[in-house]
Parts: sequence; C-alpha cells; structure tokens
Amino acid sequence: MLKKVVIVFSLLLCFTCSSTGPSVFLSNENKAIYKSSVCDPSKPFPQMILIPFFENASQIVPNCKTYPKHETALAFFIFYHKWTEYFGDRDYAVRGMLEKVMVQWGTSKKVSKKGYNIKGEPYENHNIIGRVETDTMTWVWQGYDHRMSQSALFHELVHMALRAKYGSADPDHEGLKYRGWTPAHSVMIIEAKQMLRAFNL
Ligand SMILES: [Zn+2]
Repeated sequence: MLKKVVIVFSLLLCFTCSSTGPSVFLSNENKAIYKSSVCDPSKPFPQMILIPFFENASQIVPNCKTYPKHETALAFFIFYHKWTEYFGDRDYAVRGMLEKVMVQWGTSKKVSKKGYNIKGEPYENHNIIGRVETDTMTWVWQGYDHRMSQSALFHELVHMALRAKYGSADPDHEGLKYRGWTPAHSVMIIEAKQMLRAFNL
C-alpha cells in the first residue's frame, strides 16, 4: 500500500515538474564551456563570451567592463521574468530566442538612415542606441552613464521576441503600421529596467 502511495505521489510530482514550463532555465550542462568563456583583458577586442544558462547565447564585448557575463545573464533572467509575467511564453519562442541571441555591445552610438520612434513616427538620420541586425543578433550601445539599465538592451530584446513569436520585429513600436508592439511592451521594459537598477546595473 505504502509503495502504491509513493508511486502515485511521485507521478503527481512529475506532472508538477513538467508544468513548471518555460520559466525553468537553470540547466548547467554546458558549464565547462561557460567556465572557460571569459573576458581576457590581455587579448585583442572585440571578444565573444557565452552567457551562462542560456545555451548558445553570447555577447561580443569591446572591453571586459561592457559587460561582465553575469550581469548580462541577470538581465536576460529579468527580461524573461517580466516577459512571462506580462505575455506568457507557451510555445517557448521567447525562451528559444534568448537561448541563441548574440548581443554586440558598442561604445559609441550609431546613425540610422531611417526608423521609427516609440510612438511610430518616422525619422531620418537619427542617432540610435540599439538595432536588431538579424533574427539572432542585435547591436546595443553600452548605455548612458555606462549602465545596462540605461541601454536599449530590453528594447531590442522585445523586438527580437516579437520576431520570434510573430515573424515581425515591429519596427514602428506602438505605431499602427506594423503589429506586435503594444503599450504593455513599453511598460514591461520600464519595469524590467527598474529591476536591473535594484542591482545597481
Ligand atoms: Zn525599436
């Protein structure tokens, strides 16, 4: 009898495990690679560093201070926490994006010939602080005061999450030309940045 109870119990527990779903990240299968993937100030830059716990995610850094990989990993966790809180991730598309994204950090802003501001108004020849380059790669300026919470990292990750989920990164944000980005996405970014600031990042 006791044996049966134990079996039923462990089956129940298993179901509980599998239902925890997309928020479970902390597989450390690649830990040997992660451990050896470190920024080395004596080697030439830029350098590519893997982001622990996010499978093949990586960053290209212009120096070892921009940014240490534990800070980027924490930012990814915060982003996913906020994304799932607001929008869920039933098909794991956003998790999948985070597990293969490459963030290229820059030390100076760029000029974009054309684009849209957050309200969807078009502009030309503007300074920009981030840009999605491909399905898996984004360039992000290091941010005001060299703080990740003052960078466009979360903004660009929202573009990439939308592309992973719906096939379009929605370049005009809250504008109506392209679909996907809503005011809730803008609020989510603000809250995620606030979480980063709790860590002085
Ligand atoms: Zn944008």
